[in-house]
Amino acid sequence: MKLQLNSPVKFLKGVGPKRAEALQRLGIRTVGDLLYHVPHRYLDATTVTPLARAAIGQDVTCVGRVVSTGVLPTRRGLRVFRAVLKDDSGLLECAWPGRPFLERQIKKGQLLLVTGPVRYYHGKQIVPREFIVLAEPDDENESNPGLVLPVYPATEGLTHRQIRALVQQHLNELLPLVTDPHPAAFRATHNLIELRPALELMHRPKRVEEAELGRRRLAFDELFDQQLVQARARHLAKRSRAGIRFELKRELTTKLRENLPFELTGDQRQAIREISGDMTAPLRMHRLLMGDVGTGKTVVALFAMLLAAENDYQAAIMAPTELLAEQHGATLTRLLEPLAIRPELLLGRMTAAEKSAVRERIASGGPRLVVGTHALIQESVTFRRLGLAVIDEQHRFGVEQRAALVEKGDAPDVLLLTATPIPRSLALTLYGDLDVTQLRERPPGRGAVKTALRTDAARSKIYTFIRSECAAGRQAYVIYPVIDESERADLKAATTMAEKLAKTFSEFRVGLVHGRLKADERDATMRAFRDNTVNILVATSVIEVGIDVANATVMLIEHAERFGLAQLHQLRGRVGRGPAASHCILLSDSAEAAARLQAFCETTDGFKIAELDLHERGMGELAGARQSGGVPLRYANLETDLPLLDAARTAAAAMIATDPALERREHAAYRERIVTRYERGFELFRVG
Ligand code: ADP
Ligand code: MG
Repeated sequence: MKLQLNSPVKFLKGVGPKRAEALQRLGIRTVGDLLYHVPHRYLDATTVTPLARAAIGQDVTCVGRVVSTGVLPTRRGLRVFRAVLKDDSGLLECAWPGRPFLERQIKKGQLLLVTGPVRYYHGKQIVPREFIVLAEPDDENESNPGLVLPVYPATEGLTHRQIRALVQQHLNELLPLVTDPHPAAFRATHNLIELRPALELMHRPKRVEEAELGRRRLAFDELFDQQLVQARARHLAKRSRAGIRFELKRELTTKLRENLPFELTGDQRQAIREISGDMTAPLRMHRLLMGDVGTGKTVVALFAMLLAAENDYQAAIMAPTELLAEQHGATLTRLLEPLAIRPELLLGRMTAAEKSAVRERIASGGPRLVVGTHALIQESVTFRRLGLAVIDEQHRFGVEQRAALVEKGDAPDVLLLTATPIPRSLALTLYGDLDVTQLRERPPGRGAVKTALRTDAARSKIYTFIRSECAAGRQAYVIYPVIDESERADLKAATTMAEKLAKTFSEFRVGLVHGRLKADERDATMRAFRDNTVNILVATSVIEVGIDVANATVMLIEHAERFGLAQLHQLRGRVGRGPAASHCILLSDSAEAAARLQAFCETTDGFKIAELDLHERGMGELAGARQSGGVPLRYANLETDLPLLDAARTAAAAMIATDPALERREHAAYRERIVTRYERGFELFRVG
């Protein structure tokens, strides 16, 4: 039978049932999977140092035959595994202190590659950081240093060496099975090498740069697939998105602009332009407004709401907590006072009678602007004419909840707000079917937040500082890490902390909130803090989003090393909201975390922090690759491949524009790949 890319891997010589099972654990079922199972790194043996030339103090990579091995005790009782290597230049000893068990892995006659520092200890020796068995005593033909060695993701029962041997053995028969979906002109435009050589270079590079050429091609392909899916989703959404065509009447919106107590920032003006553009176009708006805490998203949303209102439509903004909804209510009421408009508020904690009165008014169409919580999406709520749905902190709502608000109207425009900035590359990956506006600029005139990293030794000094701030009428947050709110031990630590602080600051009122409190208890304490009857608020990270207390000027974060950078940034955003100078103090005794915490102290740009955070967590965890209906990226790196992503996005958009369902013959290969690889693929490309 003829071998095909989708033939089961057990068709290959050298793959029995047991090996097939091990390969399956790596996700390799077909021979095509094996071909696309590319090395995750390379050892550059082109820069191998001859054993005789390894110099003390240097860090070297050497290759040699094992001529003897043994385990020796040292004086401190540490057992050391030693192996002597030989190459054409001479002999050199390798020593692995504390790893006597290597005796079972490293054997006389093997060809070994070692990397590590050279030291002097009764003679010259390498202390390998890592080693790789290049060849067993009996295989002759593989002893070819001067090569770049591919290292494959391996699994139990299947070493990377066995995988390498398997790939090398079959590469020549597998490569011809591959056909390149891109025509030559397309490849030339995007500076891509052909698919077959790309795969060959990844598996068999002569230099590390060659492997990178191959990787770049595969990365483009996977980004291109992903962007085709998103371009298609956008296309379908737009087609079914005949919406309301609002008119710029410049009545309420202009009045608001004239009566604002501040100047809009350039970014806010730009955002308002983009949103007005969407709303006055015949298609429905589906836009995400992304901006760090304090960049002023609410007033931008208010412009959109007024544009709906001056067209005789209703507009609603939904917030994830009562407190936030109240806050929006207060902000809107204040800003709208000169316009003699009052927003209607619908909250979960209102009495049944109050709620039903509000619902009646909303249904009558009287109130144009409505602010609320989840209470807005209850079945009993109907709008007379909802033209715009705004969803604040959109990620705090489920898909159904967001849809429920939108469905209260007849194809209303949708504006989503988020205070969690993410790098643009990730935004394109996650939100490819949304239009995205960023607010980066902060309104002027706010006291900047000074951030400092301190150790526990500074605690009493910090307390003195908090005392002086509170004595001046200002307030402080003290955050305690409780990563899992169901962890009793953590919670106890936070509670103990609050008790201690209550004693230390006996002249002030100290409150405590955490995720295990009932919502109304928590809200009561939060409100007391807002009204400055509680001076110091001890909290777990439940206060991350939302609450805006301009009078709070100190944010003290205990065990800062236990928080992610993005989370620290959210916490820091709780202060610096008023005119007074604010301080964010990270307490941490962790030496390992010092560098990353210091980096955090030095920037306040949420987008930059998002990038650091992404870098820290690594691509493996690529937030929500699944959310985008996609497959996790294997070849592309969102940190470094942004230009490639842009190219793939542009090319995909162009292709979908000319052939929306990829029905043309020359596009059949793309369509087939997407339909088989993407969960959403089939649904999206079903013709019709
Ligand atoms: P966020 O983007 O975090 O939701 P808000 O919309 O709550 O920010 O705005 C934070 C504060 O900044 C509010 O008190 C708001 O009135 C104020 N604000 C918004 N825009 C400006 C501006 N251009 N100049 C000065 N203050 C502004
Ligand atoms: Mg907000």
